[in-house]
Parts: sequence; C-alpha cells; structure tokens
Amino acid sequence: MKKVKVRFAPSPTGPLHLGGVRTALYNYLFAKRYQGDFILRIEDTDQERFVPGAEGYILKALQWCGIEPDEGPSYGGNYGPYRQSERKEIYKSHIEQLLKTGHAYHAFDTPEVLETLREAAHLQGQVFTYNARIREQLDNALNLHSEEVAERLARGLPHVIRFKTPISQPLKLHDEIRGQISVDTRTLDDKILVKSDGMPTYHLANVIDDHLMRISHVIRGEEWLPAMPIHLLLYRAFGWETPQFAHLPLILKPEGKGKLSKRDGDRLDFPVLPLRWKDPHSGAISQGYRDAGYFSEAFINMIALLGWNPGGEQELFSLESLIKKFSLEKVNKSGAHFSKEKAQWFNQQYLQQKPLEELTSLFSQELKKHKIYAENHYVQRVVEAIRDRAHFIHEIWDQSIYFFIPPDSYEEKAVKKAWRPDTASYLDQLKDLLQATENFTANHLRENIQVFVKARQLSFGRLMQPLRLALVGALYGADVFFIMEMLGRQESTQRLTRLCKVLSTSKH
Ligand code: GLU
Repeated sequence: MKKVKVRFAPSPTGPLHLGGVRTALYNYLFAKRYQGDFILRIEDTDQERFVPGAEGYILKALQWCGIEPDEGPSYGGNYGPYRQSERKEIYKSHIEQLLKTGHAYHAFDTPEVLETLREAAHLQGQVFTYNARIREQLDNALNLHSEEVAERLARGLPHVIRFKTPISQPLKLHDEIRGQISVDTRTLDDKILVKSDGMPTYHLANVIDDHLMRISHVIRGEEWLPAMPIHLLLYRAFGWETPQFAHLPLILKPEGKGKLSKRDGDRLDFPVLPLRWKDPHSGAISQGYRDAGYFSEAFINMIALLGWNPGGEQELFSLESLIKKFSLEKVNKSGAHFSKEKAQWFNQQYLQQKPLEELTSLFSQELKKHKIYAENHYVQRVVEAIRDRAHFIHEIWDQSIYFFIPPDSYEEKAVKKAWRPDTASYLDQLKDLLQATENFTANHLRENIQVFVKARQLSFGRLMQPLRLALVGALYGADVFFIMEMLGRQESTQRLTRLCKVLSTSKH
C-alpha cells in the first residue's frame, strides 16, 4: 500500500461544527491506523466568505480534541504552504498547463448575459447549464480566434477560465463507502476553475493540492460527492493518478430527516461546536462542548460512533483504541442521528472512570469558580459521595452545594411535604441529641437517631425529611447522616436552628 496521507481541508468561513470535527477525526484515525500522515490545509480562496478568527478556532479545536495535524499552517511540513491563499503561483502554472492542453478555456460571457440566459431557460421550465452542448454558442475562446483571445486578455477584459468537459463519456467512480457510481459527462457543466478575480475555485485548488501534497485518500463529507466527477476529470486532464475517495454520511437531526444544524442545537439546548465561538460580525456567542463541561475524550468517543461502528457491544473507546479499530469499511452508508442524551451518557461514563484524585482536582477548580476554598480531603469525600449521580463536573457542584454553603431558602414543595406543626419541637429535641452525640460520625448519629425515633414512636421519615430540609434546603442529596458528619456538630445544629426560626415565623 502506498504511504497513507490524508488531509482535512476546511474553509475558514466560520467555526468548526460537529460534522467537520468528525471528518477531521476519521481522517486522523485512518492516517494513524496505517502509520500515515494527517494534514491540515486551509482552503481560503473564497475571499468573500473569509471569517476572521476561523482558522485559529479550527487549530484550537483540533488541539482540544487531541487530533493534531502532522503538517499544516503553524505545524510546518515539506508540502506547504498549507494555506491556499499562499499558493496562487502554483495554481497559475497549473492552469496554464490545462489551457495549453485544451482542457480549459477562457470565457468572456458577462454576468448580465449569463443572467439573461438563466432567466430565459427558467421561463421555459429549464435550467441553464454552461455545458458541452451550449458552449459553442457562447462568448469564449472555443469560438474565437486565438488573436482575438490574446487581444482581449491583453486589454484586461474580465473573464473566467472554465473546464472543458468531454462531450459524452461514461465515468466510473469508485467510492470506498458507497461503492461504484456511474456518471455520464453529458450531465456535467463546464465548471469555473479560475474566477474573474484571478483566484482558483475550490475544484481546481483542491485537486492540485491533493496531488502535490501526495494525498492518498480523500475522506470528506457527503456534500462533496457531486464534486467527484469534475475532480476525477481534472486528475485525468493533468495526467495524474487519482487518490481514493470516501464520502462520509451526514450527521442527522436528533429526530426526523435532515442534516443536524445549529438551529437544532439552539432548540434542544446542546452545542454543535467543540469550543465557544463569538461571531465576529454579529457578536453572537455559541457555546461549545468544552465549555458545556464535556471531556474531550468523551466528545471524541461520541463523535467517532456517529457514522462508524466496529460491530459488537463495546461503546467506550479511547483515541488509541479507535486508531487500532478504525476502518472505512465500517463507516455506515446512511446518516447517523445525533443524540444529546447519548452525548451526556458518554461524558458520564468518562467521569465515572476517572480516578478520584483527578476528579477531586477538577472539582476543586469548579469550586474556585464559586469562590469556595475547601480542604482537599473534604472535597474528595464530597466527590466520592456525589460522583455517581453526575454527568459533568458542574453537576457535582449542583448536587453538593449544601456541603459548602448553608441553604439560603427552603424549597416550597419540600416544606409542604416535610413540615408539620409539631416538627419544630422534634427538631429542638434533636439538637440536644446532636450535642450529646460524643462521636459525631454518620454511624453513631444513625444509631442515636434511630433510638430517638423509636422512643417517641415517630416514623423515621417524619424526622428525616425536616432534617434533610434543614441541611440541604430541599429533599435531595447524599445520606443525611453522612451530611451531618461532614458538616460537623456546630454547622448541623445551626442549620436546624435556622430552619425552625424561618418556618416558625412564616405562615407554615
Ligand atoms: N474546503 C472544503 C470544505 O470546506 C473541503 C472539501 C474537501 O475536503 O474536499 O469542506
């Protein structure tokens, strides 16, 4: 097998979406699986759609995902420059070659004339296509004397350069995922290769670069499948060997048909970007997976399985194991539905797998955000008690606030459920018991309180609910006795006093 070399070739027209990350990931996995190279190429020939900050975003996003290129802008390599805007001279010499060999021609049709033709075709229920059938009636070098063309070019008359599509030729395309595809060149148009501003179009630059950068496999989104015939024809026109192609299925909306979009993310409250992005024009901010609390390993694992499956039950794969297992044969032909719940599930799995020390350190950082500075041992015990319930580090905080801050209010519904007219008196007696419990541990507290409840012929719940309400402010949380042990005698007692004070003076 030829040395594997693949590329991820985004246009810097905005941030990288889930689909883009997946394309980059599959390229990376494929490259590493076969000890090949993974290139990043920035396709920035469309100056009108250029968005400042997009390239930097792409680099940072790949870094966060742990799928860094072997070659690319700011990575270097022997096949640069890796930004198409810096390769104009290369494209120029190559287009000369196509003009000389008769595979491309200058076209002088003005936008107005083309628009009129489009409208006229539309009126007849047809679509105007600049193709082999019609090109001989239009204003291009195929119908002009070479002196006339030279004279127009010397005058600087606006023009584009088009590909001269073979008139009628069957084309057999092979896609690694979709198999054999047949196309007749009759159905194709004469694609513009060089625009009137002198810049190459995507098709021209993409093919030249893939060849010069020695790309062995072109792995990209399904939306580029219609470009495959013109790419193949360009390789032939240059006399180059074609790389292998693989077009990846779409990532679909969580339900129903259609491609996953930013709007789905807004509607169902999940990010579609890896990192946070601030739109330089509107200033609008879109949240990213990193900021939503996802671990990059979980994110990558989730993305990897959106369209690829090695078979079997296993769902958790580290980047290393993905590299070992990845193959294009196991990429699905049909699109994969995104699921927010599944994404959260992956994060939960990775959270549960992390060693306690690591989680404690991550949670301490979360605590700092809330201006809480607690002893490491204490934090560790909280994490240990709460981790099972959390998908995210910030959920540990949501579930454990009461270990750090006394409740400042009591949940209405919980009060209704837990508070009776005689509750205050029991809690008062309970305070005495807390004072009297010598060894203030969960076990001792449990034993003593059980005796206390029995002696008064109370139901356990009757006492536990208000106790929990006092400590937590609601009826959720860790084991009540554990909470008391953690808070200590003084803090626990104070919380009981406070609840009695607040509820005895309110209308309850
Ligand atoms: N620049 C194209 C894009 O933005 C690349 C397509 C390809 O990989 O050939 O998706």
